[in-house]
Amino acid sequence: MKSPPQPSVAEKLPRLRLRVTAAAENYIRSGHPWVFADSVREQNRDGTSGELAVIYDRQDKFLAAGLFDPDSPIRVRVLHAGKPLALDAAWWAAQLDAAARRRDGLFDARTTGYRLINGESDGWPGLALDRYSQTFVLKLYTAAWLPGLDGIATLIRERLQPERIVLRLSRNIQRAAEHFGRGRRDGEILCGPAVTEAVVFLENGIRFEADVLRGQKTGFFLDQRENRREVGELARGREVLNAFSFSGGFSLSAARGGAKSATDLDLSPHALAAAQRNFQLNSTDPAVAGCRHECVQADAFEWLAGGDTRKYGFVVLDPPSLAKREAERAGAIRAYARLAGDGIRRLTRDGLMLAGSCSAHVSAEEFFSAVRQAAGNSGRRFVELKTTRHAPDHPATFKEADYLKGIFLKFS
Ligand code: SAH
Repeated sequence: MKSPPQPSVAEKLPRLRLRVTAAAENYIRSGHPWVFADSVREQNRDGTSGELAVIYDRQDKFLAAGLFDPDSPIRVRVLHAGKPLALDAAWWAAQLDAAARRRDGLFDARTTGYRLINGESDGWPGLALDRYSQTFVLKLYTAAWLPGLDGIATLIRERLQPERIVLRLSRNIQRAAEHFGRGRRDGEILCGPAVTEAVVFLENGIRFEADVLRGQKTGFFLDQRENRREVGELARGREVLNAFSFSGGFSLSAARGGAKSATDLDLSPHALAAAQRNFQLNSTDPAVAGCRHECVQADAFEWLAGGDTRKYGFVVLDPPSLAKREAERAGAIRAYARLAGDGIRRLTRDGLMLAGSCSAHVSAEEFFSAVRQAAGNSGRRFVELKTTRHAPDHPATFKEADYLKGIFLKFS
């Protein structure tokens, strides 16, 4: 087996050694996986992207080892902290097995789309691996993985035996991946056959296609699976408005759960076309066939605030992140409250609402209280059914990784 991502740098150079501020030492000891550039106090030489950096503490004792990234404010992504040990092929294999083991027993044959590696929270900082049936999608969020990419792909192929592996690159590293002699492309097939038809997988028995070559994230929003299941269980007999629908995930779940109608509302015509195909894919299911499916292409914020007076028995609000930066946090909280208020106005008596947030900069409590406040301001009586957090295949072990929250309310 090829060795997984060991430093690509000429072996003759001395090991890249770093010392960091006292505060950063504490963060590392408490398990935080990032070392920011401005916490680096000393460095024995320039490092190259993806080489292994070893961090020593003030007593010159080993603190951690991680991937060095000279192009990112996150200068080192910690792979291992604690006692010194060799990050050799056996170590990498054990890391992959541990991530796979964490998903053991979570899914039966009715769910073949889920996350196998969730970045830092699984010990693979800046890397995600999603499974869509026999197609695996490896997504990189840092160029530091590129030098060791062949080794990683070999490891995944040998241990998990997918039919194919597709490489996806976050937008900010696509140029770096194509240039600087790396020749890596977003959507490249790392092993297995080319993608010639839609990649279809199952989620709780529902068939979906994933746009693994070009779609957002890795082609589907796997992180909302548990909320979709919940919506399915509550939707019987209801008319559902699925705002920010993407490819209709919530609508299909609602349809399968016996919803009377499902309206997908999204800005993107591609997303709505995918939603239509997903309904087609499940047309032999009597519940899906019996659900009237409609699509509305519009800006959901404007559409919900606008003059349309049709009311729904279930409104799902799952907008994209409204705070990409800390500075946008307060505005995002106001926008969530406004959106919830507009959603509530569209609800029939006894209407249900799911409001979701994927903004890491807005905490769960901030989000929940914004929605509760909007519910209170509506003047209608309501009960809170439940709040939800990360699905078990999307663990979040540190604050910055903790982004997903949902709240279910029922209005009389
Ligand atoms: N609920 C979906 C995921 C939503 S992702 C699921 O379960 O799969 C967010 C979606 O919001 C994307 O499809 C994006 O096209 C859409 N979007 C972004 N801005 C929008 C806007 N202003 N109005 C409507 N849709 C928007």
